[in-house]
Amino acid sequence: MIEINNVSKWYGKFQVLTDCTTNVAKGDVVVVCGPSGSGKSTLIKTVNALEPIQQGDIVVDGIKVNDPKTNLPKLRSRVGMVFQHFELFPHLSITENLALAQRKVLGRPRDEAEATGLKLLERVGLKAHAHKFPGQLSGGQQQRVAIARALAMNPIAMLFDEPTSALDPEMISEVLDIMVQLAHEGMTMMVVTHEMGFARKVANRVIFMDEGHIVEDAGKEEFFSTERCARAQQFLSKIL
Ligand code: ATP
Ligand code: MG
Repeated sequence: MIEINNVSKWYGKFQVLTDCTTNVAKGDVVVVCGPSGSGKSTLIKTVNALEPIQQGDIVVDGIKVNDPKTNLPKLRSRVGMVFQHFELFPHLSITENLALAQRKVLGRPRDEAEATGLKLLERVGLKAHAHKFPGQLSGGQQQRVAIARALAMNPIAMLFDEPTSALDPEMISEVLDIMVQLAHEGMTMMVVTHEMGFARKVANRVIFMDEGHIVEDAGKEEFFSTERCARAQQFLSKIL
């Protein structure tokens, strides 16, 4: 479903990704962890071409992402992305936030887009807040809206970049619960997170990155049970 083959990327002269290779099968949940600055956000942003690459190949559902001929808006509409800071449009109501991309990118009529949005809002437990603006919701609620907004596009896969790290502790579980539910429903997911409880519960694989390299890419059981490389060991000992 998501093939990342020998990907390297530079910001100017600085090499941020070095020869990264991994594959995410349909229905897999892959957790990406590693120290700050190791390239986690950059790696997952390359998957929907929010960051271009200079070497290697990325193929999502048979579509070559780094092909100049690829229709990027269409690809991005199929790969949902949820960021640390929600990135809702502050001047639009929750209903409008949910409907906008459906209308602009998928060409859905307003009533259909709003109905789909409302259904997904109900699913994340926020139907009663449809008329509000993002600033009137808690961080956890805003993040749930962001997830609903991504789901409204009928994504074939979802990318999450530290979706809970800007949240107060009591709001983390309300977001993780929705992600766990999505995982159980078979959504293909790449999740940058340090929530190892989430990883233990639903991940198929855990990737550990360091200085732009994928240094561990192991099944969950293997990742948590066996000897890891010294760098991963040191990192895990700090967060577990
Ligand atoms: P964090 O855990 O802090 O979010 P990360 O693992 O997600 O870190 P990235 O954001 O992918 O790391 O950044 C990897 C490296 O690339 C860092 O050294 C960062 O400073 C650098 N970097 C990121 N974005 C840019 C940019 N737009 N221009 C130049 N350098 C960048
Ligand atoms: Mg990051």
